[in-house]
Amino acid sequence: MVYSARTLALLLAISIAVVTALFLSLLEDVSRDAILVASLISFSASYLLIYVILEFLIFREINKIYKMMEKLRKKELSNISKEKSSALNPLEKINEEIYSFATLKQKEIDELKKLEAFRKEFIADVSHELKTPIFAAQGFVHTLLDGAMNDKNVRTKFLKKAAKSLDGLDMLVQDLLTLSQIETGEIKMKFEHIDLLKLCEEVVEQFEEKAEKKHIRLKILSDHNKIMVYADWQRITQVITNLVGNAINYTPDKGEVTITFDSGKKMVTTYISDTGEGIPPQHISRIFERFYRVDKSRSREKGGTGLGLAIVKHILEGHKSKAEVKSTVGSGSVFSFKLPRTKQDSSDSAD
Ligand code: ADP
Repeated sequence: MVYSARTLALLLAISIAVVTALFLSLLEDVSRDAILVASLISFSASYLLIYVILEFLIFREINKIYKMMEKLRKKELSNISKEKSSALNPLEKINEEIYSFATLKQKEIDELKKLEAFRKEFIADVSHELKTPIFAAQGFVHTLLDGAMNDKNVRTKFLKKAAKSLDGLDMLVQDLLTLSQIETGEIKMKFEHIDLLKLCEEVVEQFEEKAEKKHIRLKILSDHNKIMVYADWQRITQVITNLVGNAINYTPDKGEVTITFDSGKKMVTTYISDTGEGIPPQHISRIFERFYRVDKSRSREKGGTGLGLAIVKHILEGHKSKAEVKSTVGSGSVFSFKLPRTKQDSSDSAD
């Protein structure tokens, strides 16, 4: 039951007047008129007093609510939290309810603003990345049309360059598509018991020619015949492909790229190590962001889309895992990630 300040004051004042009358009637030499007058006076006085006090308390709380609303408008939420109390007073409770509701809404607004900023930045990045190969190919084709076509050597050279730019464009669009499909959940992970060793061997085979061109020794070291993990074959192939591809890209000629494994009781860790240029420590936390490159011009020139590690991050998140990086500038980098180990094959020499 909820009482207004006036009803509450009235009830209390009547009680006080009744108590006063009862008390006075116990005294011998007090007339009935005197009791009546005293009761009326005590009723009026207590009614006024209680009413004013209650109104004052209500005003104070309402005032607090107004002050809080003012701060909310000015977005001084952190200051408001200090004034929070665990009072039972219903007005203070309302105050706190408004506060938590406003905090929640403010958080949502901040999150949406962040997403909006992120979206704008992403569109700007994508446009920039698309522009680069399109402009390059366009330039070569126009130069050819403007007369360079007549020279056979120039023609072949320019056509090759235009084709390379368009291949880069194709790679970028494919990576963008993969990333967006993973993010929107369009690509569902297909978990199964897979042989990680076989998977790595297939990836290495695909990179043999590229590694040979740079005289890079690309190898897998393992004591096992099989390394069984519970994962999505196609997605983990993409992870290893991106990591090995980067290792070869960022390792100078005659370097080494090695895949090794560490089989624990429950998890298998895969390491992709290179003897490349390494990554300065201040960049390590950012290389998994889309289009983040340590050396902007050189990385682009080496043919990467700038999305390889962002894709790796998303796929590993889908496996409840994440990539770790250890790197020393000038000596090389080691990228690693864990996957859950499953029952090993009998031919396996694992512990
Ligand atoms: P990119 O297509 O540019 O290679 P990634 O997302 O695959 O894009 O990598 C992001 C950046 O991280 C690269 O541009 C490069 O600067 C750095 N990076 C990735 N792998 C290596 C590596 N093995 N050694 C040195 N730097 C690396």
